[in-house]
Amino acid sequence: MKNHVERRLGFGAALVFALLFNTILWMIETLVFFAQKIVNPRIWFYLPWKSLALYLGAAVIFFLVAFALSRIPLRRKRDTIHNNRVFLRGYLVLTLLAYFLSLYFMKFRPRLAPHWYHFPSLAALLIVTAGTIGLAIILSGLIAVRIGPGRSFTIMRWIAILAIAFCFLNTAFDINEMSIPRITQGKTTPGPNLVVILVDTLRPDFLGCYGNPDIRTPNIDRLAGEGILFRECVSQAPWTLPSLASFLTSKYPSQHGAERQRTLDKTTAKESEILLSGWLQNDNLTLFEILKENGYATAFFQPNITAASFLGFDQGVDYFFDAFKNKRLIWEDAVSALSKEKINDLLYPRFLYADNRRVVAYAKKWLKRNERVKYCLFVMLLDCHEYYLDVVGYKNRFLVSKDSHRDLLVKAYKDHVEKSDRDVGALISALSETNRFKQTMILLTADHGEGLFEHVPRSESQVAFWDKGLYHGQTVYDEIAKIPLIITPPEAAYRPREVSRQVRSIDALPTLVSLLHIKSQGSFEGTDLSRDDFQESDALPAFSESVLEYPEIKSVRKGGWKLIYHPLSGAEELYDLRRDPLEGTNLAGQQSAAGDSLRRELFDWVARMDKEKIKNAESRKKRELTREEKDALKSLGYIR
Ligand SMILES: [Zn+2]
Repeated sequence: MKNHVERRLGFGAALVFALLFNTILWMIETLVFFAQKIVNPRIWFYLPWKSLALYLGAAVIFFLVAFALSRIPLRRKRDTIHNNRVFLRGYLVLTLLAYFLSLYFMKFRPRLAPHWYHFPSLAALLIVTAGTIGLAIILSGLIAVRIGPGRSFTIMRWIAILAIAFCFLNTAFDINEMSIPRITQGKTTPGPNLVVILVDTLRPDFLGCYGNPDIRTPNIDRLAGEGILFRECVSQAPWTLPSLASFLTSKYPSQHGAERQRTLDKTTAKESEILLSGWLQNDNLTLFEILKENGYATAFFQPNITAASFLGFDQGVDYFFDAFKNKRLIWEDAVSALSKEKINDLLYPRFLYADNRRVVAYAKKWLKRNERVKYCLFVMLLDCHEYYLDVVGYKNRFLVSKDSHRDLLVKAYKDHVEKSDRDVGALISALSETNRFKQTMILLTADHGEGLFEHVPRSESQVAFWDKGLYHGQTVYDEIAKIPLIITPPEAAYRPREVSRQVRSIDALPTLVSLLHIKSQGSFEGTDLSRDDFQESDALPAFSESVLEYPEIKSVRKGGWKLIYHPLSGAEELYDLRRDPLEGTNLAGQQSAAGDSLRRELFDWVARMDKEKIKNAESRKKRELTREEKDALKSLGYIR
């Protein structure tokens, strides 16, 4: 009888201990979050209450499991004190393991953080965690059976201590930080540093310096105020892979090969299955290669799978922060080996993108280690990408409509631009603390803009949000084609100024080569904009191509007009941008001198590109993506 009461008291006390212990873990986690200054309000909302419920629920479950399992090897002795000690320690071990795992997931899956409390992710996480814990308990049970409870306590105590150490180590240090190398070669040649900040999906008309009075972007505005602001810059493709490659090579997508490649079936006039099979071919000369030849140490911090190293973007890069590679750590491999695609998708719905906070943090760490060398630091920020769609909920992003969601989404996009501006500010303030800041040239640009319901590219069968005029990659209207371009040379080298003539993304590289006074053997499609002190007024035709979602289109924008050509259907769209800046009235059916001249120019260019494509196809070897790379692209919808 006494034994029975004692057991119940011990059980109750251990349960209370478990709840208290988990509450303390929750408090530590909350403090860690506050300390890391995560500003995402959704995380604030979810973290305290949902995670507390999660921890308390876990305490009860883990405690019961530990209790049940601990009874098996100890039945012979019927020693309640020992019994309680065994399940208490079993509980400690497994709860710490779970805590370690959850820290891991939050630390290395920043994009996952707002979602991992959602039911499917949570369920999958719990299944994996429970599996790990089950194994730990069975093992400790087996140890207890074989060597007796006394020694099993010692072993479990050590496991618990190791788990605690892991938790602290994981919080205090970052595994990836240790892998940032210090460049030791004597790269002390004179000349300015170059910092390129590319804000993925940034529309210029959402920046204060481009005339938007309702937005607060003081950091980018300051760069513009101290440097050269190009009022009208056009990207050469409406999505990341081809556009970024054009920026880096001063070539068109048809030339550098980093675009969606498709073939036209002449008999059915249908395109074959759309495939992302292109990448930045090795025979291209990139910004990084040119700077490396000129004595620069090069680093590229890129958070977007479509600019990963396996797509050729690591050419000439000394340190490549590859969201794709950095995140392929042990657990992920273990999980994907166990579960193949299904659980992997649930666990890592979007892990192939990294957020600004992470990218800026790593770039700062690289700077700290390498501020003494002459460097080119290229930082790409991704938070303006489709994450603003999260305001309607992850699933509802496919149900959005212009009438009910436009204002909400425009506001959310604006918030993300303002947030990105703060991240730009954080990066620049880190730069300003380095010795060579006064010899640093900063270039800020984007790879494309973003549709916010301005144009609906496909009226029937509206399935995805890009069918409804959101997102990018589907059209080359100005909201997507136009990008900001700001070059801020080292102090006093050039007077602050604005350049009003139309320029292109491909002009950035030759301009940088000239402004940095370096040499290059490369042939550029773009123009050195700094010629004649930026005064040259030749009209530059801006060609764009390579759409992501629909049959390909080619376009030219020049002299206030834009012609869009659809090769598959032969259809044309012509807009008078001065009278019709929103591109609402298609003038293609009407006779116009401007249209005829643009058509000639566009078709000449298309013929030249086609010729180069055929020539390149012979010399460029076909390279198959590995299964792993295909899976990664498939999970994001880039391959169907
Ligand atoms: Zn992009």
